[in-house]
Amino acid sequence: MSHVVVIGAGQAGAALAAKLRALKFEGEITVIGDEPAPPYQRPPLSKAYLLGEMEEERLWLRSADFWAENRITLKLGQPVTALDPAARSVTVGDEVLVYDELALTTGSVPRRLPAEMGGTLGGVHTVRTLADIDAIRASFAPGRRLVVIGGGYIGLEAAAVGRKLGLEVTVVEMAPRILQRVAAPETSAYFRKLHAGHGAAIMEGMAVDRLLGESHVTAVRLTDGRELPADFVIVGVGIVPATALAQAAGIALDNGIRTDAQGRTSAPHVWAAGDCASFPLNGVQMRLESVGNAIDQAELVAANIMGADRDYLPKPWFWSDQYDCKLQIAGLNLGYDRVVTRPGDGEAVSIWYYSGERLLAVDAMNDPRAFMVGKRLIESGRTAAPDLVADVATDLKTLMR
Ligand SMILES: Cc1cc2nc3c(=O)[nH]c(=O)nc-3n(C[C@H](O)[C@H](O)[C@H](O)COP(=O)(O)OP(=O)(O)OC[C@H]3O[C@@H](n4cnc5c(N)ncnc54)[C@H](O)[C@@H]3O)c2cc1C
Repeated sequence: MSHVVVIGAGQAGAALAAKLRALKFEGEITVIGDEPAPPYQRPPLSKAYLLGEMEEERLWLRSADFWAENRITLKLGQPVTALDPAARSVTVGDEVLVYDELALTTGSVPRRLPAEMGGTLGGVHTVRTLADIDAIRASFAPGRRLVVIGGGYIGLEAAAVGRKLGLEVTVVEMAPRILQRVAAPETSAYFRKLHAGHGAAIMEGMAVDRLLGESHVTAVRLTDGRELPADFVIVGVGIVPATALAQAAGIALDNGIRTDAQGRTSAPHVWAAGDCASFPLNGVQMRLESVGNAIDQAELVAANIMGADRDYLPKPWFWSDQYDCKLQIAGLNLGYDRVVTRPGDGEAVSIWYYSGERLLAVDAMNDPRAFMVGKRLIESGRTAAPDLVADVATDLKTLMR
């Protein structure tokens, strides 16, 4: 009987193990995770869960029974410390487990500010794990002063929760605009206005010099010399793929753990999926940081372990919740040269990204219909004439004909 070992009990690891059983894999499956909680979803960590509107159990991806019923062994609360592809073994604590096939679904780790910048002071947090949220929950009390460093989705979501709970919130973004790395100026402008309307201060084009305080942060000093008093700080300046274990084992990296189109790494019988993995797309090693990617890629790897011999064709989508705005994103806007703005009903609006006449992506703010139509068009390789999209008289459904 064969043994599949999965390192990383997160979104991708859970999907991979479940899919193997759904595909009638009869061998042994072991999923090893360094966090104590059973596999859980992260998106609510900066949304409903941080807001206190969601119980921890509702984060869990599967019930406790699911794992036992499907004969999937979860080893939680302990990291894999070594991987030996030649011996086909991994080390967890004192135990050495031998595998037939191994999947690396180790996710990513948040970037931190260096100690010289005050990054290790008390009251300086990241938002990645349940433990991170448990550590900041008490700080989210009315009147407290929160400085968020980084105006990406996670930083902005934390800022929105802060304002909803009555905190004084300032977001400091080094780039000329929030969301610069991921969205068009039109989308940035929408969220800048949304936050301003809810009383969050957004400072763009402004770098942090260092965090001040003896042992606990008391203020954030900006490079222009100003000091923002802070009771606590959230650092949301991106993530890096968790590649240390793979690297130590001699597995090739390239923007994450490099895989081929089917999810194989450079080491025989070792696969990778999710945030940690990069896969070939249009001549580059692409890495996506989203739930949809983690699930789809992990399920594909499960199928390929079972001999499906299929390539990964990503269908990117993403979402973000801030105040009463639900943003849904379809496609990838990489290489866009033009955007079209389409007003929807009421406050709804969508931003359509094009390269020439080809539709690449849609950011839909409170506009599920625009998201759905855009997603279907993009996934089926079709486009919609920019002039028609921009014209509010165009019924979106007719674009799919
Ligand atoms: C706050 C937050 C909000 C988000 N919001 C959204 C959203 O709205 N929409 C969206 O699409 N995506 C969102 N994401 C991104 C999404 O959650 C990730 O892309 C997804 O979790 C990736 O899944 P993964 O399995 O690759 O990694 P993870 O879910 O991070 O799982 C990896 C696991 O492996 C463990 N691990 C690492 N190394 C080892 C080791 N050596 N031994 C054992 N275990 C190890 C890690 O600790 C972790 O538990 C959000 C992420 C965060 C943090």
